[in-house]
Amino acid sequence: MTDADDFLDRVDAFARGPVARAAPGWSMGQTPDPGLIRDAAAIGLTGITTPTAFGGKGQGFATLAEACETLAAVEFGFAMSLVNTQNVGLRLCLSASDAVRDMYLPRLLSGEISACTALTEPGVGTDFAAVTTRATEADGTWRIRGEKTWIINGRHAGLAMVFAQCGADRDATGIGGFLVDLNQPGVRRYPIDSGFAQTSMGTGGFVLEDAVAAGLLLPPGGAFKSILTEINAARCYVAAMCNGLLGEAIAQAAAYGAQRESFGKPLDQHAAWRQPLGAAATDLAASRALTGRAVSQIATGQDAQLSAAKAKIAATETAQRHIPQMLHAMGAAGLRPEYCFTRHLAAAHIAGFTDGATGILRDRVARLTGTDVSPSRR
Ligand SMILES: Cc1cc2nc3c(=O)[nH]c(=O)nc-3n(C[C@H](O)[C@H](O)[C@H](O)COP(=O)(O)OP(=O)(O)OC[C@H]3O[C@@H](n4cnc5c(N)ncnc54)[C@H](O)[C@@H]3O)c2cc1C
Repeated sequence: MTDADDFLDRVDAFARGPVARAAPGWSMGQTPDPGLIRDAAAIGLTGITTPTAFGGKGQGFATLAEACETLAAVEFGFAMSLVNTQNVGLRLCLSASDAVRDMYLPRLLSGEISACTALTEPGVGTDFAAVTTRATEADGTWRIRGEKTWIINGRHAGLAMVFAQCGADRDATGIGGFLVDLNQPGVRRYPIDSGFAQTSMGTGGFVLEDAVAAGLLLPPGGAFKSILTEINAARCYVAAMCNGLLGEAIAQAAAYGAQRESFGKPLDQHAAWRQPLGAAATDLAASRALTGRAVSQIATGQDAQLSAAKAKIAATETAQRHIPQMLHAMGAAGLRPEYCFTRHLAAAHIAGFTDGATGILRDRVARLTGTDVSPSRR
């Protein structure tokens, strides 16, 4: 058994055990026990692609995507929370000074603190180049003023990658990526609650009033381009998560249909009852094929802009279309929190916003495809 297989087996056991037991409560507004985050970290879920030399699992991107799918099949919000922490840990390895990395990375890897990536502001979402959070330097120290909102882990993160403008308004090349310790004076945070719950995602915002940056990790000039490249990887793992959501919904509906009877026989003995499951399984296979192609392009360092956009559109829309059908196949029981349907339906819609809204991605695909729709065009 390879290290990757062993790791993925542990992720599966963790997801199907403690995460599955806690998930119904999270859909009713409870928040994850910090002990569970430390347990996730002990498996390696906050350092999947962090090099082993720095204490991580040293796994490749394909393993990360599979771990995300496995976890999201049980609970999307928790998967999103962990992968956001893991991403900041990797960024520390790639761009931070040794001193800053050594100060924060062990705490991320142990699950002592979580981390977030903060682009969105109250007045700025899709049009990321318009961020108004400002970073100014004096005597070698960067200070940050502004507000970030709708941030995964924003309500509890100890550390944030904050994107702020250092140059003229709306100048994409003036944006820099700063590491900010959120446990300092000058940081005021707030939770964002929603009827779609997902409290496990820890969504919140924070106001930075002259917060001191712990480091400039992505300097102006390259930060904007870097985030556009990294977001392709995020689109792939979000696509994988959506495949996990729908796969689990199909499996739970099928299991229910095998034992619940109507008109003297199990539901799954009625052809009309089975057909939505067949349609969902077919579309899921197509979505998984697109996701697999995009994941393999990211894993091998190829340009995945087009394939990642296609994968995310297909996976989110496939999940959004079929999860309601699976819920319907359950009858009223599908609404109960011990089943995945309402949580996964909310998650599929949230996935349609994060890391590139579907409408914007469709436009991207149209522009990158142009007139070339040959089989080799990916
Ligand atoms: C649960 C959750 C977690 C999130 N986590 C994070 C996080 O960790 N970090 C972070 O930085 N952000 C995060 N976000 C924010 C997310 O990235 C934004 O919601 C997203 O960028 C869209 O921005 P917006 O919501 O402000 O929509 P807007 O930009 O206001 O757009 C509103 C609608 O108009 C559409 N639209 C906008 N411009 C165009 C156009 N030119 N053409 C056609 N349609 C257009 C959009 O697609 C959208 O449907 C999160 C959001 C949610 C819901």
